[in-house]
Amino acid sequence: MIDSHCHIDFNVFDKDRDEVIQRANDCGVSDIIVPGVLRKNWGEIQTISTQHKNIHPCYGLHPCFADQHSEDDLAALEEQITSNLCVAIGECGLDYRKHQPDRELQAKYFEAQLEIANKHKLPVVIHSVYATEEVIQSLKKHPELKGMIHSYSGSGEQAAQLEKMGFYISFGGTITYDNAKKLRIVAEKIPLSSLLLETDSPDQPDADHFIYWIV
Ligand SMILES: [Zn+2]
Repeated sequence: MIDSHCHIDFNVFDKDRDEVIQRANDCGVSDIIVPGVLRKNWGEIQTISTQHKNIHPCYGLHPCFADQHSEDDLAALEEQITSNLCVAIGECGLDYRKHQPDRELQAKYFEAQLEIANKHKLPVVIHSVYATEEVIQSLKKHPELKGMIHSYSGSGEQAAQLEKMGFYISFGGTITYDNAKKLRIVAEKIPLSSLLLETDSPDQPDADHFIYWIV
């Protein structure tokens, strides 16, 4: 198994990161894909991925931190991906929840990262919350692009559309929650060949571990 989206670079893992990776391996998780969130985290991701051959780095600018990104970060991203190995651009995308950064600002960084991914023929890791339609419209502008939608929350029709466009649909621990019945129905209809699993760790504990996480 591959954990297709895990923030193992976050500092909550600073004390026991190697043990966490080892435990995941022991449980049958052979590889872990680590998405980038902010420019200042890329160095840590790069370090961890050079120490562990089964940790695969992505570099990107997360939409929830759009007001912390700058134009310079986009140039730095291009420099980062051309001078260092990575498996994808991301995570990038749109998050339309309340209290998230200005939507136009999010869109600016999203579109710019899609351009970079397209130019360098890299897949994209997409964060999309209440914005699946807008994400699909943006992706349509780059028909060559492939990638994954992390922690999918859209409809079955949208999932089918994304699959046709060459995107994998990924689910995390939240699909185990009582209130995720609709999402489980969506997941059931996705062919295994288009389905990915992720922990989004440390962000999405499954239903059995939720109680420990919020304490
Ligand atoms: Zn994430």
